[in-house]
Amino acid sequence: MTPVTKGFDASGHLRLAVQKKGRLADDTFDLLKRCGLTLSQSKNRLYARVQELPIDILLVRDDDIPALVASGASDLGIVGGNVFEEERAGGRLQDRVPMVQKLGFSRCRLCIALPKEKNYSGPRDLDGMRIATSYPALTDKWLADNGVEGAESVVMNGAHEIAPRLGVADAVCDIVSTGGTLDANGLAVAETILNSEALLIGGKLSEEKAKIAEALKLRIEGVQRSRDAKYVMMNAPRSAIEKISAVLPSADNPTILELAGRPDMVAVHTVCREEVVWEVLEELKRLGASAILVLDIDKMLA
Ligand code: ATP
Ligand code: ZN
Repeated sequence: MTPVTKGFDASGHLRLAVQKKGRLADDTFDLLKRCGLTLSQSKNRLYARVQELPIDILLVRDDDIPALVASGASDLGIVGGNVFEEERAGGRLQDRVPMVQKLGFSRCRLCIALPKEKNYSGPRDLDGMRIATSYPALTDKWLADNGVEGAESVVMNGAHEIAPRLGVADAVCDIVSTGGTLDANGLAVAETILNSEALLIGGKLSEEKAKIAEALKLRIEGVQRSRDAKYVMMNAPRSAIEKISAVLPSADNPTILELAGRPDMVAVHTVCREEVVWEVLEELKRLGASAILVLDIDKMLA
């Protein structure tokens, strides 16, 4: 195992619980890497140590993450909003675990889906139905909030999509990203009951651990800022600078540079904090800009 950063007592390490393997794990490890954090795996692969900050990573199943944080076994966790909200709706977190930061990846929806041949015109069509789900608390809450009568959730931990065909349920409530799995099983989305993304969750921290958490959050924010941000450069007529600045999305004040031998033209450099779409480039061209370059930004610290 690679040695831990010197100068920190391992007992003072911040513990961060993440999914060991799966769809959330891939995105989570990618985030940690983009934060400049290198993991050294322990032999038993139950935890890994971060080399650059005093952080220990607990490698667990995603469903266990909220409870690990609620019990204090882990200080922070990265978990899908779907799992977090289900635990909250089930009353198992008792407000001990607040959401710290939205992470913007692993986006998916929790949806109620019905066999395609059923026409759906509103929540009352679900009256009396059995809904197969691994999110019973969120499903029951949505049914109650929407005045659906006599419906009940049937807990299944996998293969929800085939439940209607097996006759064990009339509908399903499950995670949807592209809708391909539903479609392949003859189901169609009737309602979206939750929009989910990965969340950083955490409880109350000691002063020392709060400092480490702050350092981690700062790096995460830097990654998030640089994700959509672009460095934009172009040559433009000096007279069009004001109009060009107005077209660039969430741009800082641009840097204006002289162009040798062209007093009427300047080079414009700026950082745009939102996606720069093709329509923006076309508008810049109409305003007389040329040699327009849009570059990815690797890291950004405000
Ligand atoms: P575990 O073995 O840890 O219990 P799992 O089978 O419950 O894993 P995964 O399928 O790996 O879970 O999904 C984990 C989380 O990833 C989901 O709860 C959801 O928040 C998110 N997720 C679901 N679908 C996608 C997707 N298509 N792309 C990215 N993230 C997704
Ligand atoms: Zn799981």
